[in-house]
Amino acid sequence: MSATATGWETVVGLEVHCELATATKLFCACPNAFGAEPNTNVCPVCLGLPGSLPVLNERAVELAMRIGQALHCTVKPSIFHRKNYFYPDMPKDYQISQYDEPINVDGYLELPDGTRVGIERAHLEEDTGKTTHVGGGGRIHEATYSLVDYNRAGVPLVEIVAAPDIRSADAARAYVAELRAILVAIGASDARMEEGSLRVDANVSVRRPGEPFGTRCEVKNLNSLRSLGRAIEFEAQRQITLLERGEAVVQQTRHWDESDGRTHTLRSKEEAYDYRYFPEPDLVPVAPPGEWQDQVRALLPPLPADRRAHLAAVTGSTPAGVALVVERGLDGLVLAAVAAGADPERALTHAEHNLSMEGADRLDPAAFARLVAMEVAGELTATQAKAVLVDMVETGDPPDDIARARGFEAMGSDALTAAVDEAIAADPDAWASYCGGNEKAKGALVGRVMKATRGQADGKAVTALLEERRAAAPGPA
Ligand code: ADP
Ligand code: MG
Ligand code: ZN
Repeated sequence: MSATATGWETVVGLEVHCELATATKLFCACPNAFGAEPNTNVCPVCLGLPGSLPVLNERAVELAMRIGQALHCTVKPSIFHRKNYFYPDMPKDYQISQYDEPINVDGYLELPDGTRVGIERAHLEEDTGKTTHVGGGGRIHEATYSLVDYNRAGVPLVEIVAAPDIRSADAARAYVAELRAILVAIGASDARMEEGSLRVDANVSVRRPGEPFGTRCEVKNLNSLRSLGRAIEFEAQRQITLLERGEAVVQQTRHWDESDGRTHTLRSKEEAYDYRYFPEPDLVPVAPPGEWQDQVRALLPPLPADRRAHLAAVTGSTPAGVALVVERGLDGLVLAAVAAGADPERALTHAEHNLSMEGADRLDPAAFARLVAMEVAGELTATQAKAVLVDMVETGDPPDDIARARGFEAMGSDALTAAVDEAIAADPDAWASYCGGNEKAKGALVGRVMKATRGQADGKAVTALLEERRAAAPGPA
């Protein structure tokens, strides 16, 4: 049952951590690389050895600014704090993170349907190492022993905190998909959920529409868009059930278990004072000069939302209508084909329905335009055009050659006219009925033409010819 169907509204605020695509870590020169032999990309700084000092990675600041700019944030002077807590994956016993003065504040992300989700902040921090608990189902308290890999310790992260503007599991998935596309487009992160370079925590609460926000729970361990959606739906329903029984939702951090499809208590919510935040004394404040900000902004590529708006304008569609094509990275192909003379609507339709395969983005725009032209001219039916397109992507051959090789002979307009006239002559009853205004009788005539041409005729062209013939026929007495 969906939460809204019961008169409840789901409220979601997402916190997304993304690993930045820098060559080195945030405060040392160790490589920032996924998949290396454990504990090989480490040094005194990221192992937290006494006497070592952090040095800020300029490139990480640049990528953080790019993220802020792409999310329409204000870039501000910021300072690093120490967030103190004990856990074996963090050798210093504190994480260096931006706290009350983050580098980016007050932005928004626009979804394909045009709705906006507020971005409260997007701040820089370092990642922790990675623990693996062996035995006891992988949970720390039941494990026989634990392994720790510090390769990830000190990898630069940006945490993007969204406002509680999301109202459904679907919208939450759309938000993460859009954010991922932006991060990849601007080169800030490879944003792979399956490798942990994009990690999502979902804050979920429920309320009666119009009432103040309810108490939220934060759900961790969401490793895919599918898990994100399922976890939000489960958690909202869990809270609704509690409230309808007259019980209260307790603010908690919960863990999503993919195998049983439920969230489980992890710990009670920690408060800021638990972390004993204080300014990191070994780092100076970060205040990117306006000039540097401008340089970074000038290098931003067109963002998915801009690309959708542009493609929609050129093809006469809507941003939501072209979302899939932009997501596949085929907007450049469609635009180039249109520039080469292709019918925009047909080019877009092909990109959406017939070009989901690998390698479609390498299609030659001129050849694609030629294929669309053949279809528009009635030389290929829609079905034939699709088959030719598949071969074009596979072989790179020109559409004319493929059509010929496949026996899709050009059905010239003379041949088509002849086929239509033959059909009229062969079925005078259907013709008379059609001329008398019975549109259904048209089907019999079109069917005859198709049969006679073994499906090679274009249905639209046949209909157009029949209409032309009828208009020219002597009307009923
Ligand atoms: P904290 O400092 O405890 O992490 P924040 O105020 O920074 O709390 O909020 C963290 C996240 O929780 C944000 O993404 C925000 O949108 C979300 N959030 C806050 N209140 C609610 C609520 N009532 N329901 C759902 N999400 C919420
Ligand atoms: Mg938080
Ligand atoms: Zn290091």
